[in-house]
Amino acid sequence: MKSINLFYLKVYVELIFLSFLGLSNTICFAQNPISIAKFKDNKTAAISYTFDDGLKEHYTLVTPWLKRLGLKATFVVNGSNINKDNKNIKDSTRVTWQDVKEMAAQGQEISNHGWAHKNFGRFPMAEIKEDILKNDSAILANTGIIPRTFAYPNNTKSKDGVQFASQNRVGTRLFQRSIGGKSTHQNLEEWVNKLIADKDWGVGMTHGITYGYDHFSKPDILWEHLKKVQGRQNEIWVGTFKEVMAYVTERDSTILQIQQLQNGNYRITPICKLDQTIYTEPLTAILMINEGKKVKIKQANKILKITINADHVLFNFDAFGGVIEVIVK
Ligand SMILES: [Zn+2]
Repeated sequence: MKSINLFYLKVYVELIFLSFLGLSNTICFAQNPISIAKFKDNKTAAISYTFDDGLKEHYTLVTPWLKRLGLKATFVVNGSNINKDNKNIKDSTRVTWQDVKEMAAQGQEISNHGWAHKNFGRFPMAEIKEDILKNDSAILANTGIIPRTFAYPNNTKSKDGVQFASQNRVGTRLFQRSIGGKSTHQNLEEWVNKLIADKDWGVGMTHGITYGYDHFSKPDILWEHLKKVQGRQNEIWVGTFKEVMAYVTERDSTILQIQQLQNGNYRITPICKLDQTIYTEPLTAILMINEGKKVKIKQANKILKITINADHVLFNFDAFGGVIEVIVK
């Protein structure tokens, strides 16, 4: 909630600043005519599912179920225990690089978990750094995609480690909730309800499904949970860890300069100083409109798709895409 307040403050300050400079007909609105939604498409809460350690079941069971439900998740892998290919299986409980490539091609996120799952508290920093870079290279070579997030092995962190692992990424996994051995239909439902009540982002962390570390008492608990969440997508944004992390960071780093023109139209300039080669998530804007009014919205001369609601419209824009023109009819 704190970040949202800060955001409003920024918009307000921008408005006053522009008024002082006399640059436009900018006025201080009683209510902000435009703001950035807390989550994509103005959903109430967000959930990212992360599956750790590259278990074969993530490919054979989880991915097909996600595909069926149309959901995306994040798979955090260690290159050292991934089988070279489908013919060279060293450990049948782990995925192959072919599996990982296929998952990435389906739009699932592949995230870095260190090459050899080295605990940040037990190994020298030089070794940890080498492991992170080695895993980045292996994931890029095998999937064609640079991992832009990182999850700490055993969730162990150090100041230097966090700093290094965060370089050239949208973020690293700094909080999570275990979904596994202790999960029940009921406690997962309570978790989701709480996220919605708190308008919060939840990050699930799952290891084994039917075997391995922290596996479910009955895998049906996971399948049912995912199906229920899929059915509540009007309230919940299910996004990969990278997508939600990028969204919240961009949201909190973007200032909107709003000018109301004499003809009642708006000229909105988003200003975001993040690295646009890494932060590529569109942001959702909420534009308040009076009943009966119609709007057309353009950015870089492209007409943006809008969703019309009773007193506001929603549209997705590019934080780095330049001036947004709102034409009110
Ligand atoms: Zn792990």
